[in-house]
Amino acid sequence: AWAAAQAMRPATGSHEQEQAITVWEQELAWREFYQQALFHFPALASGPYRPQWQHFPWENDTGRFDAWREGLSGVPIVDAAMRQLNQSGWMHNRCRMIVASFLVKDLICDWRWGERAFMRRLVDGDLAANNGGWQWSASSGMDPKPLRIFNPFTQAARFDPEAVYIRRWLPELAHVATADLILGEIAPLERRGYPEPIVDHRQQQAHFKALHARLR
Ligand SMILES: Cc1cc2nc3c(=O)[nH]c(=O)nc-3n(C[C@H](O)[C@H](O)[C@H](O)COP(=O)(O)OP(=O)(O)OC[C@H]3O[C@@H](n4cnc5c(N)ncnc54)[C@H](O)[C@@H]3O)c2cc1C
Repeated sequence: AWAAAQAMRPATGSHEQEQAITVWEQELAWREFYQQALFHFPALASGPYRPQWQHFPWENDTGRFDAWREGLSGVPIVDAAMRQLNQSGWMHNRCRMIVASFLVKDLICDWRWGERAFMRRLVDGDLAANNGGWQWSASSGMDPKPLRIFNPFTQAARFDPEAVYIRRWLPELAHVATADLILGEIAPLERRGYPEPIVDHRQQQAHFKALHARLR
């Protein structure tokens, strides 16, 4: 695949096209990186790369975990992505990062639970890439940024600004205004059975940071 991408370089007609090849090669590099990491550090398969994460006080609330897994967390972008996974066996990389961050940093659930749930449902499930992706999202892996927390609403605004993706996978909310879908602020009468958010992002972010500060 790498050689084929290289062979296409002379045929590119613009900087943009060449850039697209570079980006795609970088994705392959991530794949190779996680394969290498697992080969040299096989213990990654069962635990964190950063040892202090072995002592993180996960809350592991099974009710919240089930709601996340089934696409019933009340956060539209998270639920759309989980429903896509459950119905098709696939999810875009951006969404994988959003739902992983939400499970770990908002629901304070052990990333290995999410890793297992993904492996059960992904058609492209791969030990190294999945483990690497989850540890990156959890901040327990080789990512140099110490504490990365995604805001699901900002992510939705940036990557699904017209809420096309949200409406596609949450058809029960198709009638709701775009801004409300992005912010997850849906009026009670418009919910039609769709749940209220199971947690408050800001509160949970502060809570997670406090727990993380105790790790050091
Ligand atoms: C939490 C989480 C879990 C993931 N689990 C898996 C998994 O089980 N299996 C898997 O193959 N990928 C996994 N990924 C990586 C990535 O999401 C998928 O490889 C990507 O969505 C595949 O889509 P694509 O074929 O269109 O990729 P493209 O963007 O076309 O990239 C080409 C190829 O590069 C590789 N690749 C791209 N991005 C990544 C990445 N971030 N990490 C590793 N390899 C990458 C894949 O082999 C992919 O097919 C995970 C990412 C996260 C954040």
